[in-house]
Amino acid sequence: MNTESTASELIALDAVRKSYGVGRPSEAEVLHGIQLQVRRGEFIALMGPSGSGKSTLLNILGLLERMTSGSYRLDGEAVQGLDDAALTLRRRRTLGFVFQFHHLLPAFSALENVTLPALMAEGRVSAANNEHARSLLDAVGLAQAMDKRPGELSGGMQQRVAIARALVMNPPLVLADEPTGNLDTASSAEVFALLRRIHAERGTSFVVVTHDPRLAARCDRLVELIDGRIARDEAITSGVEPVPGDATPVPNRALASHDLLSNQ
Ligand code: ADP
Ligand code: MG
Repeated sequence: MNTESTASELIALDAVRKSYGVGRPSEAEVLHGIQLQVRRGEFIALMGPSGSGKSTLLNILGLLERMTSGSYRLDGEAVQGLDDAALTLRRRRTLGFVFQFHHLLPAFSALENVTLPALMAEGRVSAANNEHARSLLDAVGLAQAMDKRPGELSGGMQQRVAIARALVMNPPLVLADEPTGNLDTASSAEVFALLRRIHAERGTSFVVVTHDPRLAARCDRLVELIDGRIARDEAITSGVEPVPGDATPVPNRALASHDLLSNQ
């Protein structure tokens, strides 16, 4: 592969392997040589059957887990070989996370939860951090709920707090692991629309794990993992495509013809 970093490149993974239980009888390789490039500003759906390695891949991208072998360049800099402290700094500077379960701290207000990454990164919450957190909560429709604790908010609202938290340090990349997996259809569509709006307004890149083909169809690119290998990596042609000899447009052929619909 091309080993040169370009300005548009955000992520370059090459030959990435991950094994759990290395050296033990239970040793098992779960990612078998992943090659993946992500450009700045991409909005990617990561799909695949349960157990195919999506979370493992996302955790490696997020510097939460180390790969067993291979190379990973993030924002122009190789991460293999960095020690834990350096990884933590890079994570705080470059990445935002949204998980299926929001992991908000129950004793803290929405606003305090959103400023938490600033507290972790800088040891204090500055006036600018607070201001930014307020504007993010406003942007996700929670201007009236800043002082509420997570337990006082609906699931969709909690997930919107988590999204604001992921953005507070202005990361170029947000990794989301089934961010709507715990929500009803309406909240799920709302949260997803919010991610798309953030992408459009801020140019943030997203890699979103989802099981929902309707949500995946609203991404720009689909990466599908099967058994720890990339089985599909293609642009999603949004909207409708004319079919020759038929005046009726059909939705998105790339996804409609797709076996992942039966893969849930
Ligand atoms: P997905 O998110 O696609 O459901 P995961 O990345 O969670 O898949 O898991 C991929 C494979 O790795 C599964 O077989 C899972 O059992 C295994 N696995 C995940 N985490 C660990 C771990 N910490 N220790 C051992 N095996 C793991
Ligand atoms: Mg998973």
